[in-house]
Amino acid sequence: MVAPRLVLILGDQCSPDIAALAEADRDRDIVVMAEVAEETEYVPHHVKKIAFLFAVMRHFAEDLRADGWTVEYTKLDDPENSGSIDGELLRYAIKHDACEVLATEPGEFRLIERLEAMPLDVLSFEDRRFIARHEDFETWADGRKQLRMEYFYRDMRRKTGLLMDGDQPEGGKWNYDHDNRKPAPDALTYSGPMCFTPDTITEEVLTLVETRFTGSFGALTPFWFAATRAQAKQHLTRWLKEALPSFGDYQDAMLSGERFLYHSITSLYIHVGLLDPLEVCQAAEEAYKSGQAPLNAVEGFIRQIIGWREYMRGIYFHEGPDYTTRNTLNHSRHLPSFFWDANTDMACIRDTVEATRDEAYAHHIQRLMVTGNFALLAGIDPAEVHEWYLAVYADAYEWVEAPNVIGMSQFADGGIVGSKPYISSGNYINKMSNYCKGCAYNVKDKTGDTACPFNTLYWHFLDRHRDRFENNPRMAQMYRTWDRMAEDRRKTVLSDATLFLDRLDEGQRV
Ligand SMILES: Cc1cc2nc3c(=O)[nH]c(=O)nc-3n(C[C@H](O)[C@H](O)[C@H](O)COP(=O)(O)OP(=O)(O)OC[C@H]3O[C@@H](n4cnc5c(N)ncnc54)[C@H](O)[C@@H]3O)c2cc1C
Ligand code: SF4
Repeated sequence: MVAPRLVLILGDQCSPDIAALAEADRDRDIVVMAEVAEETEYVPHHVKKIAFLFAVMRHFAEDLRADGWTVEYTKLDDPENSGSIDGELLRYAIKHDACEVLATEPGEFRLIERLEAMPLDVLSFEDRRFIARHEDFETWADGRKQLRMEYFYRDMRRKTGLLMDGDQPEGGKWNYDHDNRKPAPDALTYSGPMCFTPDTITEEVLTLVETRFTGSFGALTPFWFAATRAQAKQHLTRWLKEALPSFGDYQDAMLSGERFLYHSITSLYIHVGLLDPLEVCQAAEEAYKSGQAPLNAVEGFIRQIIGWREYMRGIYFHEGPDYTTRNTLNHSRHLPSFFWDANTDMACIRDTVEATRDEAYAHHIQRLMVTGNFALLAGIDPAEVHEWYLAVYADAYEWVEAPNVIGMSQFADGGIVGSKPYISSGNYINKMSNYCKGCAYNVKDKTGDTACPFNTLYWHFLDRHRDRFENNPRMAQMYRTWDRMAEDRRKTVLSDATLFLDRLDEGQRV
């Protein structure tokens, strides 16, 4: 008899057509899936994220068994659990006398390196769930002085044929972002993502996570995430009908207490394999073609998936394992404790951290222009910011989180992802949200005890990084405005910002 091979399926690889499975032989090979302590502990993950992954994995293992596969599944509390992915592979290799592993390339260098170091033959196949393969991205990036998502995105449109009219973009423009900047509406016409009642498999996971991760960050319940492909599709179908038409208009809006607005909550489902990115985009395109959703909404949504999502993955693998340690701006302040306990007078940060704590979710503008903006202005160590984002969001995997945090949000990569830092004073937050109305600080105050901290920190950031940014054409106007201010006023702004940062360092409530 031919020796079996082990087919490794990681938690975010629960797709029926995942590469390793496509290479395997149902009659010969053994699928290995494992809930291991090491993967739950390398950063302090949100409990909802852990429960989501285990619930998806356990349902997927059942599907595979029903489909005729032999599955070795290690639960977190199995007495023989070795605690690591490589440990489990070795244990099952001995049990089944297997010496070869079929794997799909993991989405982070940490695990790739672990698999490469194993004393077994590991055949690793590229993850084919992405539209751009590594080779495609490298070919595109090769010889370009500057990498910019917009041009990559146009190639992805051509490659997929999505929203194309022959070789021209549908409607004559590639990008309708300009139409997508409406501030928050007074009332929403969408009631939020579809919520699913946990079945017995998920209930068992919830009990396990509750017992094992007492004191960990985040609210475990109510647990409403989809755990199967059928549920994720049900959620998507409703979202396409009820929310997609308004997705574009309010993509950048924020509203106190409204955690999802018109966002799709598809990232976590796509990343683990419950939804296929191309199918999701085709469904959105169909909504446009059948007149159910306008072009600005559909183009904006498709751009996030075949543009940003694919681009970020390309950047992660293009830049290599040291990407997460970059710190171009030499920021070194510790992450304030209110990123964990929401104990702050800044209403925008409090609302974002509370949403994060309760749902393992915050939408893009909250991540970028509230918590990310604050961390950048305050000069927080990007490695600590990266760890926080990786830990707290249910959709956080290093291949997508790191380019968003180290690159887009913290400019720690020196401008690979963005041509200028995403910074703003309180003005932007006030324009796009209703947070400031309920805040202890006053967004209109530029100096003094009641001044919005974003206002003083904004100028402090520009002033301390003048050498780096003053010649950036996209930032010249900011420096002109700063230079036009009376010197006394500039001094007061800087000393108020310094006082605020001192209070932050002393752990005072701000
Ligand atoms: C500081 C920071 C950290 C982030 N960390 C993560 C992360 O860990 N994981 C993650 O998936 N996204 C991350 N993002 C990107 C984005 O915020 C999330 O993808 C989005 O909020 C997910 O919610 P949604 O599914 O409701 O997205 P929607 O707003 O409904 O967007 C639709 C789709 O577009 C994709 N998308 C949108 N923007 C991006 C982007 N910038 N990069 C990649 N995909 C994108 C999402 O996967 C989603 O499926 C981060 C952004 C910032 C600024
Ligand atoms: S005033 Fe400043 S700190 Fe308060 S909510 Fe507005 S932007 Fe945030």
